[in-house]
Amino acid sequence: SLAPVKRALLSVSDKTGLIELGQALAGLGVELLSTGGSAKALREAGLEVRDVADVTGFPEMMDGRVKTLHPMVHGGLLALRDNADHLKAMDEHGIGGIDLLVVNLYPFEETVAKGADYETCIENIDIGGPAMIRAAAKNHGFVTTIVDVEDYDALLAELRGNDGATTLAFRQKMAMTAYARTGAYDAAVSGWMADQQGDTAPRRRAVAGTLAQELRYGENPHQQAAFYVDGSNRPGVATAQQHQGKELSYNNINDTDAAFELVSEFDPAQGPACAIIKHANPCGVARGATLKEAYGRAFDCDRTSAFGGIIALNQPLDGATAEEIVQIFTEVVIAPGADDDARRVFAAKKNLRLLTTQALADPAAAARTIRQVSGGYLVQDKDNGVITRDDLKVVTKRAPSEQELEDMLFAWKVAKHVKSNAIVYVKDGATVGVGAGQMSRVDSCRIAARKAEDMAEALGLDAPLTRGSVVASDAFFPFADGLLTAAEAGATAVIHPGGSMRDDEVIAAADEAGLAVVLTGMRHFRH
Ligand code: 5GP
Repeated sequence: SLAPVKRALLSVSDKTGLIELGQALAGLGVELLSTGGSAKALREAGLEVRDVADVTGFPEMMDGRVKTLHPMVHGGLLALRDNADHLKAMDEHGIGGIDLLVVNLYPFEETVAKGADYETCIENIDIGGPAMIRAAAKNHGFVTTIVDVEDYDALLAELRGNDGATTLAFRQKMAMTAYARTGAYDAAVSGWMADQQGDTAPRRRAVAGTLAQELRYGENPHQQAAFYVDGSNRPGVATAQQHQGKELSYNNINDTDAAFELVSEFDPAQGPACAIIKHANPCGVARGATLKEAYGRAFDCDRTSAFGGIIALNQPLDGATAEEIVQIFTEVVIAPGADDDARRVFAAKKNLRLLTTQALADPAAAARTIRQVSGGYLVQDKDNGVITRDDLKVVTKRAPSEQELEDMLFAWKVAKHVKSNAIVYVKDGATVGVGAGQMSRVDSCRIAARKAEDMAEALGLDAPLTRGSVVASDAFFPFADGLLTAAEAGATAVIHPGGSMRDDEVIAAADEAGLAVVLTGMRHFRH
């Protein structure tokens, strides 16, 4: 038969559910040990509690830095109950066994998220808590470790179902949860320190996060999934406020992130912009005199694909734009705010998810991206490369016009957010054809041009909008064919990184076709 839990140590920063748990444990005949604040709360609820200071013979000291770090505590957590030597040591030193540990840690992540100063964040690094958690979890053969308020009910059900004991299976599960917590906790501390020092070296940073949401499923219904936040508190999908609509799905989160990161490339000081995303690729991006116009122009790039899309705006959503958006089915709208009119319009569309952020993302900010491969992870700096006019090198006989230059820089920003091979046609500050994710660049050129033809037909235009457009390519043209396909579609200027061994050949072909070509010297692969 299982040994019942006789003594429990409760030491929690988040006191949610503490009293109820203490009462239930006392009801099961469990002796309660506790630290300062937790003991006080339990006592005030009329429970009998023994102070850890009484057990250790040492007062809690140094602002709580040293409370439970003592052999009387750690011996009680770590002693093997079936080992004669361990039992003898307990006896010799008067160490009582601790069969159940309930700890939640100083709120380090929340303290950082609140923007606390350096000293406050340091003081919120819990030392004794993780030490106890790791000790108790190691000794899960005998000791139960609870680190999450959400597991209190399961603990009580377990105790009640086993005459006041817990099963090994339960203790193992809780030990696993415990190490996940201490691992994430230290990763948060390391990440915060790296941020403080501006050090992005992957070798020095742990890769982990805090569980924010268990998702209904992953990319497909047969895949389990969860959403973790990294504590960096950046503006974006991880920190946005959701006002209405169902819970975000895995694909929603992924696409909303893509949309918001893309639209954040467009400085609101230079006017409204809108990005519409499907399957993490833009199917329309545009500026406009108004937000409504920006949305309409983005929509006109590919009305077919925009259905069921995700919309990101670089300015707070207003009523007029909201009215336009609700004309078709949209999954998510994300913007740095939404006014009352917009909220009223959206309220009628219960399924439409509206997210607002405090600000736009900073496209130049340093961050990391992580991708899993079988047996490992790839970690790299986020692509935060930004170019300006001064970085461009004109390589053709014809120099681009002012309008072409502006459109090329616009197209370049969009291309950075399109899966490779990426080809983006732009005219007057709006995409008019996007070719994404093809294995050959020339195919991306053709697909984007063909989509522009389809839209011209749908909109009843005489000619596709690629006529007189510019085109951006996320990497160099290895041959002239892709560039000539763009010229055939009516593009007059091209922006790409350059650097191919056949650059001269490609430039000569561009000159012959009367194109203006500028090189960025920077590549934006995105896979
Ligand atoms: P209380 O509110 O009960 O005074 O403190 C509970 C918190 O103290 C818990 O979050 C627990 O992890 C933490 N804690 C327990 N022992 C120690 C210790 O020895 N040092 C530090 N820094 N924190 C501790």
